[in-house]
Amino acid sequence: LQISLVPMTMSDDEEPGLLLVMQDVTAIRRLENMRSEFVANVSHELKTPVAAVKGFAETLLAGAMNDGETARSFLTIIQDESDRLNRLIGDILELSKIESRRSPLQFSPIDMDSFLERMKELLAAEAAKKNISLDISSEAGLFIEADEDRLGQMLMNLIQNGINYTTDGGKVKVIAEAFTTDEGDDEPMDWVRITVSDTGIGIPKKDMPRIFERFYRVDKARSRSSGGTGLGLSIVKHLVELHRGSIRVESTVGVGSQFILELPMLQP
Ligand code: ADP
Repeated sequence: LQISLVPMTMSDDEEPGLLLVMQDVTAIRRLENMRSEFVANVSHELKTPVAAVKGFAETLLAGAMNDGETARSFLTIIQDESDRLNRLIGDILELSKIESRRSPLQFSPIDMDSFLERMKELLAAEAAKKNISLDISSEAGLFIEADEDRLGQMLMNLIQNGINYTTDGGKVKVIAEAFTTDEGDDEPMDWVRITVSDTGIGIPKKDMPRIFERFYRVDKARSRSSGGTGLGLSIVKHLVELHRGSIRVESTVGVGSQFILELPMLQP
């Protein structure tokens, strides 16, 4: 609670008085805290790869360059860490663009069937590398109103996570289907539900409510080794909300996870 006293007079012939203002600043403070926490996290995340690039470059200059094999392995690390830095910066910029509403969504009708077909083409090679079967299907004739690039970003993130957090030989499945909600007095509403499920490592119960937070990772080392930035799901969540939809997760450790995305259907 922020309390301030403001001098004031009601009319000229009256004694000057004091106005007591009590303002609940909880929400403002919480926002300020979130912002400074984010800046601290970003700095930390950026420092790690920069420190690695600097360290290995210094070691090379100090003499490691003379051994061809060592030099090659150090340069590979420098290259990987630079890629990581690039991905991080890209995701941070993307998140800030979405949050500041600087680039408004470009809505158009999207045919889920052909859209998902394209997603499959884009990700088939990545799944094949881990010998993961990628099964994508949609009910025919389903349309949603969405920003096509952003919808692609959401699904890419979810499917890529499915591939990353599933061991070799597993399965990732994507299904799109229609459903209707009928809540009392409101008009019934038609939705498209897209479920991305995997047979992967799963998510512990205690972590589930937090995985959509920026930089939250169940296992930092694992996320890092699969090239994750810890920002994918928070980007997805923001985009889902901009599409007036919702996302939730169900998961069992050692069995697999399901991400359930629900978006308003476009009426034919
Ligand atoms: P990251 O870049 O680390 O993958 P995300 O924001 O995409 O970041 O996901 C946050 C965390 O949620 C991941 O680090 C991982 O711990 C967990 N996670 C996301 N998707 C899955 C999944 N399909 N299976 C298991 N864990 C997952």
